[in-house]
Amino acid sequence: MNLWRGMIMKAAFFRLPGEVETRDLPVPVPGAGEVLVRVLACGICGSDVDAFRNQQADWHRRGHEYAGEVVQVGEGVNGFRCGDIVAGIGSLPCGECPACYRGEPYYCHHPRWFGGDAFAEFVCKSAEFFFPIPHLSPDEGALMEPLTVALDLVRDGNVKLGSKVMILGAGPIGLMALKLCCEAGASKIYVSHPSTSTARLQLAREWGADEVLHPDSEDIVKRMKGLEPNGVDCVLVTITPSIGLPQAVQVCSVGGTIAFVGMEWKPQVDIRMNIDEFHFRKLRLVGSNHNPCSRLYPVAAELLYRKVIDAKQLVSHRIPLERIDEAFKLAIEHRDKVRKILIIQGEANCDA
Ligand SMILES: [Zn+2]
Ligand SMILES: [Zn+2]
Repeated sequence: MNLWRGMIMKAAFFRLPGEVETRDLPVPVPGAGEVLVRVLACGICGSDVDAFRNQQADWHRRGHEYAGEVVQVGEGVNGFRCGDIVAGIGSLPCGECPACYRGEPYYCHHPRWFGGDAFAEFVCKSAEFFFPIPHLSPDEGALMEPLTVALDLVRDGNVKLGSKVMILGAGPIGLMALKLCCEAGASKIYVSHPSTSTARLQLAREWGADEVLHPDSEDIVKRMKGLEPNGVDCVLVTITPSIGLPQAVQVCSVGGTIAFVGMEWKPQVDIRMNIDEFHFRKLRLVGSNHNPCSRLYPVAAELLYRKVIDAKQLVSHRIPLERIDEAFKLAIEHRDKVRKILIIQGEANCDA
């Protein structure tokens, strides 16, 4: 029996400049090896906001941080049953490239992408793109994908027991990285974030920032030189790289590591920084990118289960799919109130 065949679902479509609308589409029918999932929560990522305002001209779909309930399994699928709660996996290793062969999927040359169409009532994918989360809520499941970004950033930043760390940007990735740095035993953590973003700053303090700096109202490099004359061991950059990297070079200690996650969305960008300082201080610069992220899902699930990352604290707004336009408006215009916004099915628990 196919309960969903012939049914209609809502899905969000986006295009420049900042337009979003929900349309009716047929509910997909899972083919062999596929699973149909009813999306229960899907997070708005910084990249979604950026694409919606600046990048993709034509109508397209988005949504890659999500969890839901299995409602139908295709032929030949093992390990999933209707009613299972699952998190969507953003990307998988190809299993065939030189890096995969030598057992280093982190450096996979051709990660396989799930696509990104989860701002919708249903998604239908190959079963390997779902991770069962029997002990987590859908809200927690929706944080798994961005949490793997933070996990890799902290790893790439070489954060260790006793490290002094500076985090540029306290968006959801920066905040989760902050909590992970505490877990890793960092001895001192400095966070730089605009003074107007009060909801996120408050959480940064609660989650262990020793000192918060405000790039909109002070010279953060000068202040850091006063606080840490020898610099910090690790700088994690979660803001626009062309802004963050020049600052990072100036606050990083001899032999320190700078890891950055983030895009400029341009084929070329001019970054002005003191390269001699970089050379003489023997700095390391690492581009951090969690793809393929599937390998980190078990760790992310454990951290969410143990409330090391507490979804209730991080998620500030839960807004139904029908009101997704309001959610994006909120993300852009009311950054003071927002920590993380989830698009959900059903009842909202906040005023957008
Ligand atoms: Zn994302
Ligand atoms: Zn590979």
